[in-house]
Amino acid sequence: MKKIIIKIVLGYLVILIVYNLYLTYTIERAVTSQIKICGEAVYLIPGIKTAMYHSVTNRIYIDPEFIKKYDTKELESLVWHERGHRERRFQLYVVSLLNTSLEVGGKIEKQSFIMIPFLYGPQIITAAVVIPMSHYQEFKADEFCGQHGYGGTLIKVIKKIVSEQLPSNLLLQVALDPFHPPVDARKIALNVKGLLK
Ligand SMILES: [Zn+2]
Repeated sequence: MKKIIIKIVLGYLVILIVYNLYLTYTIERAVTSQIKICGEAVYLIPGIKTAMYHSVTNRIYIDPEFIKKYDTKELESLVWHERGHRERRFQLYVVSLLNTSLEVGGKIEKQSFIMIPFLYGPQIITAAVVIPMSHYQEFKADEFCGQHGYGGTLIKVIKKIVSEQLPSNLLLQVALDPFHPPVDARKIALNVKGLLK
């Protein structure tokens, strides 16, 4: 019995790694061009509706709409937040492996719905671990951003993103995006550390 459980867990882990690599390939394939923000090459992917760091490619990606919508300082704050994720590259890889929804990959690769029963079923079990892990990563990335003088700007831009993409009801926000802490919690966390400048 024990052996069967170990085999199932290992088999599932293999599926996650293969799927994760496939999504990495999908993300790279969706890149249309690149720009420099804070001296960093940032790769543009139309339609991802976010800025994100990917631990496998070690690159930062952003929706080109963001370049139009947000000013230079706001974009720089997003890059510093993503650089904060890079500081914990391995931890982030573990989170993204377990957080199999891989929101961005899902937006790019429409066919991934085939994987939903495989991925979301066990994710109900891993959510209790993954959500706190994910929130911890976000607070740490915010902290890194704040240490570079962009804390206040980051909160401002996240508020704009949330107001455009999520309903105003906090419970619905948490339900639709459980992997990021609510923006007010992020603001308080930065303020406590004196990084909300
Ligand atoms: Zn983040």
